[in-house]
Amino acid sequence: MPSVNAFAAVSATAPLQPIIIERREVGPRDVLIDIKYTGICHSDIHEVRGDWGPCPYPLAPGHEITGVVAAVGAEVTRFAAGDRVGAGCLVGSCGKCDACLRGQEQYCSVKAIWTYGDTDVDGTVTQGGYATQIVVTDRFVLHVPDALPLDTAAPLLCAGITTYAPLRRWGLGPGKKVAVVGLGGLGHIAVKIAHALGAEVTVLSQTLSKKEAGLALGAVDYRATGDPATFQELAGAFDLILSTVSAPLPMDSYLSMLTVGGVMVNVGAAPEESGMHLRLLNRQRILTGSLIGGIAETQQMLDFCGEHGIGAEVEVIAAEQINEAYERVLASDVRYRFVIDVATLA
Ligand code: NAP
Ligand code: ZN
Ligand code: ZN
Repeated sequence: MPSVNAFAAVSATAPLQPIIIERREVGPRDVLIDIKYTGICHSDIHEVRGDWGPCPYPLAPGHEITGVVAAVGAEVTRFAAGDRVGAGCLVGSCGKCDACLRGQEQYCSVKAIWTYGDTDVDGTVTQGGYATQIVVTDRFVLHVPDALPLDTAAPLLCAGITTYAPLRRWGLGPGKKVAVVGLGGLGHIAVKIAHALGAEVTVLSQTLSKKEAGLALGAVDYRATGDPATFQELAGAFDLILSTVSAPLPMDSYLSMLTVGGVMVNVGAAPEESGMHLRLLNRQRILTGSLIGGIAETQQMLDFCGEHGIGAEVEVIAAEQINEAYERVLASDVRYRFVIDVATLA
């Protein structure tokens, strides 16, 4: 089996470190990707630090992957060596259940296979994109439009699709008002996409420290959630609220900012129990969640971003800076996505 350089967590508390991992041989439906860039998603940090339960160590995280095709298996027709491609959170699903047939592989009723920390079809643990190469079944490989540089495109493979999917699903467009809660990796791309869809965007951030940058991304208003007046002044203001916050959020207070029939989508931390039912039934408001997006929709999102010139705002780092980057993400000190230059792993 081919060995590749990677950067991995070995425990919930130790710093990530260089290791060698194994990739499977390229099978008939496989694509071998030379990874160029991998974004650091907050989910990488949740996973390797055990926030979501036990983690199989050693584990190389990373599911915002862009690169160039190095080789393809004999039955692959949609990709060829040299193609600019991406891979996101998913590397497998049954392909036959209702969810898969609807193009929502992330909700596969048999089993979605996640890019890292999951059990692959051959029983091995999947290893992610903090590595120089990855082998992915062709069905889960995406084309990156020529208009998008590979570094700013990498975060689209998770942060992009996770925000694009609910914004489309809930009909965001001209005449609609949306609030994006949290201006981090997901939040800043949500602002760009919502603006490109023609909606009126407000950012709800803990403080006003990123106000100028948030307005430059396409928001028309920017409010601090640390100020209680924000919730009174914006009562009933939004058709849609998208929370990208990585910590528990008092959903109840946010629901009051929805108009009649308004929708609150949470893609960040799980909502806490509260008396929120009154806020829902009095105005027929909808609180819902969302998990990334399907593969066809991910391609649609990449094409949309290509047409609108939307990439992430990135800070490209060397592999040896990953641990420092994790601390800065945890301190909400990132503008707005760290992306690993995988050449520094070679
Ligand atoms: P991130 O870059 O760290 O951004 C999260 C933002 O949340 C921060 O920038 C901060 O924004 C805000 N925030 C952090 N702590 C907060 C607190 N205690 N109270 C209020 N706001 C707080 O993280 P990310 O990579 O965008 O990921 C965000 C969350 O989405 C994570 O939990 C991640 O696991 C999850 N996620 C879910 C999916 C899915 O499919 N549903 C996919 C990807 C990621 P301000 O500084 O503006 O306040
Ligand atoms: Zn992610
Ligand atoms: Zn399925």
